Amino acid sequence: MNWASDDDMPERAPLSRQAMAARAAPYLDDLNPPQREAATTLDGPVLMLAGAGTGKTKALTTRIAHLLATGTARPNEILSVTFTNKAAREMKTRVARLLGQAVEGMPWLGTFHAICVKLLRRHAELVGLKTNFTILDTDDQVRLLKQLVVAANIDEKRWPARQLAHIIDGWKNRAWTPDKVPAAEHGAFNRRGVELYAEYQERLKTLNAVDFGDLLLHVVTIFQTHDDVLQQYQRWFRYILVDEYQDTNVAQYLWLRLLAGGHKNICCVGDDDQSIYGWRGAEVGNILRFEKDFPGARVIRLEQNYRSTPHILAAASGVIEGNQGRLGKTLFTDLSEGEKVRLIGHWDGEEEARWIGEEIEAMQGGTRGMRPFSLNDMAILVRASHQMRAFEDRFLTIGLPYRVIGGPRFYERMEIRDAMAYFRVSVSPDDDLAFERIVNTPKRGLGDKAQQKIQVAARSNGVNLVEGARLLLAAKEIGGKGGTELAKLIDGIDRWHALVRAGVDHIETAEQILEESGYTEHWQNDKTPEAPGRLENLKELVKALESFENLQGFLEHVSLIMDNESEETEDKVSIMTLHAAKGLEFPVVFLPGWEDGLFPSQRSMDESGLKGLEEERRLAYVGITRAEELATISFAANRRVYGQWQSQLPSRFIDELPADHVEVLTPPGLYGGGFGAAAPEMSAPRSDLHDKASRADVYNSPGWKRLQTRAQGRGMSQPSEARNVVIDLDAVSAFTVGDRVFHQKFGYGEITGIEGDKLDIAFDKAGEKKVVAKFITAAESAGDVPF
Ligand code: ATP
Ligand code: MG
Repeated sequence: MNWASDDDMPERAPLSRQAMAARAAPYLDDLNPPQREAATTLDGPVLMLAGAGTGKTKALTTRIAHLLATGTARPNEILSVTFTNKAAREMKTRVARLLGQAVEGMPWLGTFHAICVKLLRRHAELVGLKTNFTILDTDDQVRLLKQLVVAANIDEKRWPARQLAHIIDGWKNRAWTPDKVPAAEHGAFNRRGVELYAEYQERLKTLNAVDFGDLLLHVVTIFQTHDDVLQQYQRWFRYILVDEYQDTNVAQYLWLRLLAGGHKNICCVGDDDQSIYGWRGAEVGNILRFEKDFPGARVIRLEQNYRSTPHILAAASGVIEGNQGRLGKTLFTDLSEGEKVRLIGHWDGEEEARWIGEEIEAMQGGTRGMRPFSLNDMAILVRASHQMRAFEDRFLTIGLPYRVIGGPRFYERMEIRDAMAYFRVSVSPDDDLAFERIVNTPKRGLGDKAQQKIQVAARSNGVNLVEGARLLLAAKEIGGKGGTELAKLIDGIDRWHALVRAGVDHIETAEQILEESGYTEHWQNDKTPEAPGRLENLKELVKALESFENLQGFLEHVSLIMDNESEETEDKVSIMTLHAAKGLEFPVVFLPGWEDGLFPSQRSMDESGLKGLEEERRLAYVGITRAEELATISFAANRRVYGQWQSQLPSRFIDELPADHVEVLTPPGLYGGGFGAAAPEMSAPRSDLHDKASRADVYNSPGWKRLQTRAQGRGMSQPSEARNVVIDLDAVSAFTVGDRVFHQKFGYGEITGIEGDKLDIAFDKAGEKKVVAKFITAAESAGDVPF
C-alpha cells in the first residue's frame, strides 16, 4: 500500500463550504424544484426515486457540478458509479459543460467494475494476488472450470462447465466466498459446486487472475477483513453518487454500504420499474430498503418527464401497469402530443429489417409530416443479440451506416484473442490460460502430448507453465522441432516481458511480439479467404493501443468494456440490445421482434416464471421510454433462430399497449402488393423451409384469419394512413380444439385441449403430448415437409 504517492487521493480538506455556496450557480436554473433539491442537498443520504426520463441522471450530474463549483469536494473525493463506461464519459462531459470548464480528473467516476479494478490493483496482495493480475473473460473462465470438472471425474456432458460458471457467478453476485456459501446451496452442481468453487478460486490465485465477479468480491472481502483499508476509503470518498441504483446486486450493495459508512453522503437514483438485471443478481429490494439502511434519508420523487411525448409515455405506462408490487408513480409531460406509438407486423425477420431500413431512409428526408431525423437520432433496440444480424445484413446491402453497441465485439474475434493472449503472457507470465492458448498457435509441433508434459512439469514443481516448459527444455525432455520452437517461444516471452517491465513503448512492443512470435506471418502465409481480414484486424488492434499508456491498461480496458468504445462522430443508426439501451434516449426508436418467446423471452419465463415475465415487462418499459418523438414496435410471423425457422405469435406485451395511443400500420406488400409469386421464400431450397409455411399458406390459414377478425373486432385506434388494422393482438394461441396441426418432430396430429400457449395434441404416430403453440403449424400450411 502506498498511500502517500497517490495522486488519485486527496491531500487536504476542502475549502470553506459556506464561502463557496454563495457563488452563483447558473447550472441550477435548468432544474425543477425537486431536481434542485436533489442536486443541492449535499450532506446526508439522498434517494431519488423516479420514473424514466424525469431527469434523474441530469440531477445527479448537476449534483457533481455543484459539489465541485462550491468547492465542497475535489474531483478525486467524489465516487460516482455509472452503469456503463459510455455513461461515465458522458457524465464527465456534461459536468464540464455545466461548469463551463474541463474537469481535471474524476478518477473515481466509472462503472463498479472499473472502479474495483483500480482498488484491487492497489491491494491485490491482501487477497493473494499480484498487482498485474489478469482479468479473465467468460471464455477463459469456462475453459478453466472445464479442466476442474474433468479433473474431478464429473461427466462434463451432464454437468457442463458453463452451468457451473453460472452458479459461481450467482454466488459471487451475492458476495459469497466459498466458505460463505450457505448450506441451502450445497446441493448445487450435483453437490460438488462449492468444492469446485473453492478449487476454482485457488486456481485463479495461482494464475494471478480474477474473473469479472471477483473484482467486486475481492474488494468487498478486503474491506470486510481490513478495517484500516476500509476506513481510509471511507474518509476519502466524501461524496458517493450512484446512478441506476435499482440494478445493483448484493455485492455492489455491500460495497456501497461499506464505503458510505463513514460520511454517509450517499445519493442514489433509480427507478424500480427499470430493474432489468435480476438475471445477473440485481436486487430491486436494494432501492426499496434504502431508507432503512440510511435512516433520515431524504427521499425525492420526480414526476415530470422531459423526454417523451404523451403517447409514448402513456403506452409505456400502460404496459408496466401489468406488473404487481410496484411502487407506482405518476408521470406527466408538458410536451406536445406527437405521434402515436406505431405497431406493425411482418412476414419474417428479414422483411422486418427491410421495412425498418426503408423507414430510416425515408425519415432522413422527413416523412409523415415529421421533421427530418439524422441517423444518430435513430436506434433499433432488440431483445436478443441474434436479432442484430438481419439488420446488419440489410444495412450493409443498402449501404446504410450503422453502429452496433455492445454487440458481437471486435475483441471476441479469434485473431484478436490470440494476439491478446500473447500480450497477456508478456505482461504476466503467470497467465497460464493465455500461454495455453498460444503455445501451439501458430503451429509449433507442440501437440497434446507435449502440452501435457508441460502441464505435469509445472504442476509437480508448483510453477507456472512458462517455468514448467523451461524445466522440460533444460532436462531435454522435449526435443525435435517442438523443442526448438518451444525454446524460441520461451526466449520470446522472456524478452517481451522484459520490454514490458522496462516500460518500452508499448506499441513497438506489441508489434515486436506479433512479429517475433510468428503470429503475423502465420496469417500472411494463410491462403484462406478470411486471412486478409484477420491481418486487417491485427493492424486495427495495434492502432487501438495508441490511446493507452501501456499494454496492461489496454488489456484491462478490453476486459471491462461493455459498450462500443470507439468515439464516433459520424452519422450512424445505433443497433443495441434493450439492456444496453438503459439510460439512453433517441428521438426515433424501433423495437422489433415483439413476439412471444423472443420478447418476453421464453428462457427468462422458464427460469424465473412470473418474476421473469415481470422483468421482461420492465424491459419493454425501458425500451419504449427510450423514445423521444417516435416509437415503432414490430413483430414477425416467422423468424429464423439459429438457422431454424419458427412461426411466431405476437408478444403478449402488444396486447397490453393501450389502444388509444397506438397506431397500427399494415405491412407493405401484405395486402397491397399481393404475395405468392413475389415471395422469395417460395424459391428457397426445401431444406431451408423446415416448418415454415409459405406466406400465402399462413395468411390463408384458418388460424390467421381468425386472428384478423379478432383484431378488427377489438377496434384498435384509427390509423392515419388509408390502410387498415389487420394485425392479431391476442397473445394466446391461434388454434382451436379439433384443428389438424403439424409439429416438426412429432408429425401430424389433432388438438385436444388448449391451456394458454400450451396445446394438448393427439399425434398420429407419437401419441398424446403437450407442446408449446409456437412450435406448431396448421397442418394444411405445413405441406409435405419431410421430417
Ligand atoms: P432514465 O430513467 O431513462 O435513466 P432519467 O430520469 O435519468 O431517465 P435524464 O436522462 O436525466 O432522465 O433526462 C431525460 C431528458 O430530459 C434529458 O434529455 C434531459 O436533458 C431532459 N431534462 C431533464 N430534466 C430537465 C429539466 N428540468 N428541464 C428540461 N429538460 C430536462
Ligand atoms: Mg438516467
